[in-house]
Amino acid sequence: MTTLAVDPDEVERLRHAREQVLERIAAACARASRDAAAVTLVAVSKTVPAARVRSGVVAGLTVLGENRVQEAAAKIPVIEGATWHLVGALQANKARRALELFDVLESVHSLALARRLDRLAHQLGRARVPVLLQVNVDQDPAKAGFDPDGLEALASQLDELPALEIRGLMTIGRLTTDPEAARPTFGALRSLSERLRARWPGLGGELSMGMSDDYEVAIEEGATIVRVGRALFGERPEPGIVPVSRAR
Ligand SMILES: *Cc1c(COP(=O)(O)O)cnc(C)c1O
Repeated sequence: MTTLAVDPDEVERLRHAREQVLERIAAACARASRDAAAVTLVAVSKTVPAARVRSGVVAGLTVLGENRVQEAAAKIPVIEGATWHLVGALQANKARRALELFDVLESVHSLALARRLDRLAHQLGRARVPVLLQVNVDQDPAKAGFDPDGLEALASQLDELPALEIRGLMTIGRLTTDPEAARPTFGALRSLSERLRARWPGLGGELSMGMSDDYEVAIEEGATIVRVGRALFGERPEPGIVPVSRAR
């Protein structure tokens, strides 16, 4: 393993950013009469160079999220001491690599993908891979995910996949800067989870919802996992002006 240089100033900045986010998580939990220990902060490190992510781990950001298998493959092997969540769309041809790299797959968006992951997990000797089912709550054609109305009908087929441990549901809220705009989506994911779990004992109760602009609202609506990137690591480069070294 190569040792990545850790910049003490960077560690201090990230430690401070982490504390601020944790304070806001605690305040949102207090408003909702929830225990802050029941909320996991996933620090989404996509586009952040490996050395800075390493500083984040030293600063206490030990649960990390990436959305691209290829980018993650360059980072995960050189960053020790973290647990990795895949949060982005997973293509079938990257499923094996994703299983080799990630601890938790949050973005399982179809029955076909779940079956493929189950088969590959057997082959790789990885029993009981923790996964979440991504739900397209708003039935937005631009987003991946299970149709919320169709998920119950798939319960028995998803339950038959012994190598997957289905810990709960994940969704992406409406992408606006108004956090209240996402509240109905988050509330709907929570009710869907409650409805499903009443008849589907194999489905876990995790709810992954909320990002930098709306994680507090998501917690008020019951999130147990929040996926926060920019509020910790700062703004990402605009897609159109990605430096050549980082272009994919
Ligand atoms: C990028 C990303 C996040 C984090 O978004 P921020 O706005 O940077 O907090 C969360 N979830 C998914 C699926 C993402 O792709």
